[in-house]
Amino acid sequence: MTTVRDVLASGTRSFSFEFFPPKTDKGEQTLWDAIRRIEALSPTFVSVTYGAGGSSRDRTVEVTKRIASETTLRPVAHLTAVGHSVAELRHIIGQYADAGVRDVLALRGDPPGDPNAPWIPHPEGFTHAHELVSLVRGLGDFGIGVAAFPERHPRSPDWESDIRHFIAKCRAGADYAITQMFFDPEDYLRLRDRVDVAGCDTPIIPEIMPATDVRQISRFAELSGASFPEDLAHRLEAARDNPRDGHRIGVEHATLMAERLLAEGAPGLHYITLNKSLATLEIHQNIQNTHSTLSTHNPLSTHSIRSAEHVLSAER
Ligand code: FAD
Repeated sequence: MTTVRDVLASGTRSFSFEFFPPKTDKGEQTLWDAIRRIEALSPTFVSVTYGAGGSSRDRTVEVTKRIASETTLRPVAHLTAVGHSVAELRHIIGQYADAGVRDVLALRGDPPGDPNAPWIPHPEGFTHAHELVSLVRGLGDFGIGVAAFPERHPRSPDWESDIRHFIAKCRAGADYAITQMFFDPEDYLRLRDRVDVAGCDTPIIPEIMPATDVRQISRFAELSGASFPEDLAHRLEAARDNPRDGHRIGVEHATLMAERLLAEGAPGLHYITLNKSLATLEIHQNIQNTHSTLSTHNPLSTHSIRSAEHVLSAER
């Protein structure tokens, strides 16, 4: 069974979609509608975020396992060290292996409730992501992804230590990284150059978050530490009460950003869907239209372009 590592190693550009575990039955239905639409595009993978605790985590595991058993998609399981002993982490990884999940995104996570609160490790757990990477690497032939931060991790005191610790995760066995959301392509390019200069060639996939609603984006930016371009904020503010305009602005900005990143050689794109598919599908279709001849390793097949058009016309 191939992993994301194998796809990237073949030189194929990856494109992927991220979901979160739903809280309600209605949310579950919305999620599965989005998953089924995206399945028609044959993405490289889809991923499901790992919740802060309890039932949300169980839902992550259930949804990820269901994707593995009931769809044709390749699931990447997010997993964090928050509140888990090493024995519990081993158990979850074992559950994934049993369900045929071969890809894990290994993360440290943030303190539940307040992401900026002091980090307190589980007494029998891990302090940093590189330890989880080593654990997963030792437990089987998994494809392993890690997090990267185009504007530096909010807890990193300087770039030097941020890059050093990022490279430690790669050396511990990570095959690729996915970035935190960002809204200026230069941030991604600077990060990639820094990692490259430090002697690490692990592929870094940029995350694309369509900024369609100023309220939502301010909250996300606050939580993730991502800065938000002033002109985009002003345009979205003007569209505060006009969701159609907000949608158009967000899709346009994300499309331009994604085009630039691909033109600069990014190994793929990872779209945040918020469990809906419309904005990300539009961006994806725009990219396919402009980039279908850009790469000799282009995975964006005619089939997938037609599927995107078909899915979009059904959604509208
Ligand atoms: P680490 O790599 O451990 O880094 C955390 C901080 O510690 C950094 O400042 C780093 O420089 C520093 N550090 C690392 N190693 C050392 C060391 N040896 N000594 C000293 N300092 C060190 N969170 C969730 O809860 N669920 C999710 O599903 C989820 N998905 C995510 C997906 C992506 C693509 C990204 C980018 C983030 C995601 N997050 C998720 C958020 C993530 O868990 C947080 O951003 C967390 O604060 C950092 O996790 P990390 O794996 O980068 O940690």
